[in-house]
Amino acid sequence: MVGRMTTNDVQVAIIGAGFSGLGAAIKLKQNGVDDFVVLDRGQNFGGTWRDNTYPGAACDVPSQLYSYSFELNPDWTRSYGHQPEIHRYINDVAVKYNIEAKTRWGSDVTRAEWNEDENRWHLEVTRNGTTEHYSARTVVAAAGPLCEPNLPDIDGIDSFGGKIIHSARWDNDYDFTGKRVAVIGTGASAIQLVPEIAKIAGRLDVYQRTAPWIVPRTERTYHRAENWAFKNVPGVQKLMRATVYGLNEVTAFGLTYSPKALKPVELVCRGNIAKSIKDPELREKVTPKFAVGCKRILRSNNWYPAIARPNVDLVTDGISKITGSGVVTKDGTEREVDVIVVATGFHVTDSPMFETIIGTQGRSLAQAWEHTGMQAYKGTFVHGFPNMLLMVGPSTGLGHTSIVYMIESQLNYLVSYFKQVRDQGITRTEVKADAQDEFNNSVQHGLRNSVWLTGGCASYYQDQNGNITTLWPGFTFNFRRITKEFDIAAYDVERADATVSA
Ligand code: NAP
Repeated sequence: MVGRMTTNDVQVAIIGAGFSGLGAAIKLKQNGVDDFVVLDRGQNFGGTWRDNTYPGAACDVPSQLYSYSFELNPDWTRSYGHQPEIHRYINDVAVKYNIEAKTRWGSDVTRAEWNEDENRWHLEVTRNGTTEHYSARTVVAAAGPLCEPNLPDIDGIDSFGGKIIHSARWDNDYDFTGKRVAVIGTGASAIQLVPEIAKIAGRLDVYQRTAPWIVPRTERTYHRAENWAFKNVPGVQKLMRATVYGLNEVTAFGLTYSPKALKPVELVCRGNIAKSIKDPELREKVTPKFAVGCKRILRSNNWYPAIARPNVDLVTDGISKITGSGVVTKDGTEREVDVIVVATGFHVTDSPMFETIIGTQGRSLAQAWEHTGMQAYKGTFVHGFPNMLLMVGPSTGLGHTSIVYMIESQLNYLVSYFKQVRDQGITRTEVKADAQDEFNNSVQHGLRNSVWLTGGCASYYQDQNGNITTLWPGFTFNFRRITKEFDIAAYDVERADATVSA
């Protein structure tokens, strides 16, 4: 039975306890905003790094860039972090800043609605079968784009009699030993989990719709002396981080402005194929037919060796349907399996969460974005959704470096926003429609020559209209610059004493 509890009034409700939600909580605390709650449907911090526990889960961004700048991790064991280590890092930071005390686990935010009379958000939260109510002056929506698993819409999938596992909802109790396994997808998640499952599965069919470009994973274990230096020699880790940041940033030039400049990356990828796969037919199958960078460039040393194994079959015929016992391809072949792993990504541009956030005039985010695709001013504020900040919002995603850098840029903006709210007694902030339009026009203009638009691929970076609404064009330091200060002139604001348009 669904019970009802009294409303909890807070100044800020943060939805999500991943990298961005935790970061927001820490920054609020550090800046004297103590009246907040963090709501998360899970049981500990980490967001996507908590949820993705499939074998082989790891980060393809260098570990030096995969921490908050204010909490460098001198203990990284490798140059690229693996999921357990990243998850542990995030939870350790949460403990250090005592954010647990502010967090309500098992809290699924089913609705957040703006109340114009009160200038507040009202949140409905399902927790342990009970509906809880929160009211907040400001909402920080930090659920992130990699939160809602995308289950493929394949004919007959519901009739499959075996087990279906999504890569982001792994069943660690399921034993793949000797099993007949189908993996659907060859994206970042699949290329990590397939080599692990291939070691123990009886037979493994990998269903590839589009071959990805893959560079070698230049991963190495840190020497103890390096970890010692990170911890004890001032500036060493910062210098290493800055160097890695600078090197990665070079790729942004090719991705955004001059895809031809990515030719050397393509050659490295082709070399990776030539080195790992001897069979010419398989080589042809795994060679992508689009420009490198159009889809996320993947990193792996064990993907090609895995699909060349005798117990692994790379199936490229295309799936026509799923039956009670297996997968049927377009040529009519049925391959019977015990388990289907769907490594088919996330609802990035069409998240069900967009239906649950209701702004002015009763319009949901999904409705606001229905014709335009996702849009936000500086990736953070959306016209029609006062007092709400979106973390890792539209146009903040990246193809070349760490999202934590973008999150920290947004955190700077958040801190500056809350300072002005406090200092000026602001009760309502809504970004002006023309400011948002102008910003989005400049983003789209910046993307016009990018490989994501010109590279001849379909990707989750694009929405259903083919618009790139997820990615930041160009160098990340430009985003850092424009989010340094909360630019109040772009907003309509109301203050406690009077109504003022900035
Ligand atoms: P993804 O990149 O969206 O890949 C989904 C895969 O499933 C693609 O190969 C796609 O084929 C295929 N697919 C989707 N629907 C299908 C269908 N109906 N039939 C057949 N194939 C289908 O998802 P992901 O691999 O989970 O990665 C998502 C993002 O998560 C990454 O880009 C990255 O940002 C993040 N991630 C990061 C890491 C890391 O190392 N940091 C690791 C894992 C994930 P098409 O290509 O043809 O669409």
